Amino acid sequence: MDLHDRDYYMDGLLKKDFRILSRAITLVESSLVQHRRMAREILDDLMPKTGHATRLGITGVPGVGKSSFIESFGMMLLEKGHYVAVLSIDPSSSRSGGSIMADKTRMTRLSADKRAYIRPSPSGGTLGGVARKTRETMLLCEAAGFDVIIVETVGVGQSETVAASMVDFFLLLMLAGAGDELQGIKKGVMELADAIVINKADGDNLAKAERARKEYESAVHLLSRPSDLWTPPALTCSALHTTGLDRVWETILSHRDALLKNGELAKKRRAQSLDWMWSIVDEGLKERFYNHPGLKKCLPKILLDVESGKTAPAAAADELLLSLDHCSRERRARSWKRYGGGPIKK
Ligand code: GDP
Repeated sequence: MDLHDRDYYMDGLLKKDFRILSRAITLVESSLVQHRRMAREILDDLMPKTGHATRLGITGVPGVGKSSFIESFGMMLLEKGHYVAVLSIDPSSSRSGGSIMADKTRMTRLSADKRAYIRPSPSGGTLGGVARKTRETMLLCEAAGFDVIIVETVGVGQSETVAASMVDFFLLLMLAGAGDELQGIKKGVMELADAIVINKADGDNLAKAERARKEYESAVHLLSRPSDLWTPPALTCSALHTTGLDRVWETILSHRDALLKNGELAKKRRAQSLDWMWSIVDEGLKERFYNHPGLKKCLPKILLDVESGKTAPAAAADELLLSLDHCSRERRARSWKRYGGGPIKK
């Protein structure tokens, strides 16, 4: 891919040029150092143009109707005059196979509309890596004028926690199940939710959905809440028949108002930014550690020593961490000598 200068991306994004937005996202998703560097510069330039969007996370088991919901909900938002970007976090997507979510023919009406932008999950890498790329893509979309960002995730591993940590409002889509309504739900995920929406509340399922709604509503009271200012409601909707969607949007807006009034939204975003920074530092440290030549040199022996019980794990861990230090000292000493310096203090 040709690298253009920063202004090319800035101008393109501010003009809502989708081709340039896709290129900028490709830089964010690239593993090439020069692409990553350019992506950081673009993001840095664009920071003042970001942050205005309503950031919405959506999760739910496969088949609950996430794509159908986002399609109907997104179309409703376009009719209200919004610009909607849909991003996905699917850590199961692999480099070769592509994303599970992207493989389906999804959201055809929304993807054909110029006021919407749909980007499948970045593929490959760790969940942390996928999360970083999605967060940065979210900022690019905001700079390009999208005022509602939907981050969709399937319930794989910790993906819900990661998605919830980058949005203002986290929505859990559910089905009215047979028998015990609370079976099979990860309690932790319910605790992340700012609202529970029971989809497919239509036809024969209507009464069952209403029953389930009441049960979830009482269950939510037993859980610890994401915020003291907000009690997550349980709602019903039909993505297929586009009913109940307005109510969902009103709920998201009331949540936003409640948080804005108390300065909670800014606080939440500040905390998210700091968490994000630390998770990048974490990833970076790990990457440096595992790719360090000093570590590669001494690791095989240390592994053998721990396995055979010759060295205690804690002592071995210390040694591994110190090996980085040792190697960089050696390197410093070598380059010092090369430039004619005397012995340096170790
Ligand atoms: P996802 O896997 O969570 O993205 O779910 P999909 O959106 O692909 O939907 C799974 C199936 O449920 C599809 O056959 C949809 O047509 C159907 N579906 C989705 N929403 C509704 C709804 O509100 N009512 C009914 N009756 N079916 C729905």
